[in-house]
Amino acid sequence: TSTMAKSKFEYVKNFECDENLLPNCWIVVRVDGKSFHKFTTKHSFKKPNDSQALWLMNKAASVVMDEFKDILLSYGQSDEYSFVLRKDSMLYNRRKTKIMTYINSLFSSAYVFFWNEYFPDVKLKYPPSFDSRVVLYPSDENLRDYLSWRQADCHINNLYNTVFWALVQKGHLTNTEAEQRLCGTFSSDKNEILFTEFNTNYNNEPLMYRKGTILIRKKIKSPKSGKNKIIILPLHEDLIQDQFWKKNFEILEI
Ligand code: ATP
Ligand code: ATP
Ligand code: MG
Ligand code: MG
Ligand code: MG
Repeated sequence: TSTMAKSKFEYVKNFECDENLLPNCWIVVRVDGKSFHKFTTKHSFKKPNDSQALWLMNKAASVVMDEFKDILLSYGQSDEYSFVLRKDSMLYNRRKTKIMTYINSLFSSAYVFFWNEYFPDVKLKYPPSFDSRVVLYPSDENLRDYLSWRQADCHINNLYNTVFWALVQKGHLTNTEAEQRLCGTFSSDKNEILFTEFNTNYNNEPLMYRKGTILIRKKIKSPKSGKNKIIILPLHEDLIQDQFWKKNFEILEI
């Protein structure tokens, strides 16, 4: 700190070079679980979707949003969460590593901190970890396309996983057989297998599984005190069409 006397070693500080994020761009930080294929197996997650695990991800993301008010919206699916910061954010002077590492470590520690609340009967076998990256998007269209890309990814993976696990759990195929069965199939084929062989209409699967989770801040009037307060609201909606952005236009309007 500034009050500390400088030592002859002080010069090594000059070797540090932290990148500042380009002004006037949307800042996206995405965290993703490390080897969650293994983590979910070791902790007996329900396949294809463990809803408690998804709510734990949503909880960890809410903790991050509570701490960093410059996050306008977050989007999560599977073992990943994306955080969108205001384009005019001056958080840590837009220092890239500060922003990325604080968000990543708070997310990771909140995930572990709240583990027991969501999995009271499952002991953590080892500490999970998450990678993270920062991406800048210069236009609203780029930002929307980024979120659409993540939601399309959610859809593609979830459709695949839903059929795959139906073939394994209900069709009694081995993992390898199920994989072979799905090799080269289109979305329409997968929907067809679910419908004809497992009496499942994919469109009736829970929205959180199909669309992921959007977290936004909403002002609500407390029914008790009548005072306005801001809450973090989870939504499981389509982000790709215009409707969400028309309804929530204020998110991009800064
Ligand atoms: P920044 O967010 O910029 O890092 P900071 O308050 O964490 O701010 P540091 O320079 O990292 O500032 O200093 C760490 C602070 O924590 C110091 O005040 C230090 O005395 C205190 N601290 C760290 N470890 C211990 C410890 N084991 N016992 C007592 N105090 C500690
Ligand atoms: P990497 O370290 O490269 O990210 P990974 O094994 O985490 O490797 P991902 O592509 O991130 O690979 O995939 C995440 C894995 O975790 C997938 O296998 C997915 O099915 C599983 N998974 C994530 N969330 C859940 C959940 N809520 N329920 C069941 N399985 C989940
Ligand atoms: Mg410190
Ligand atoms: Mg992962
Ligand atoms: Mg992932």
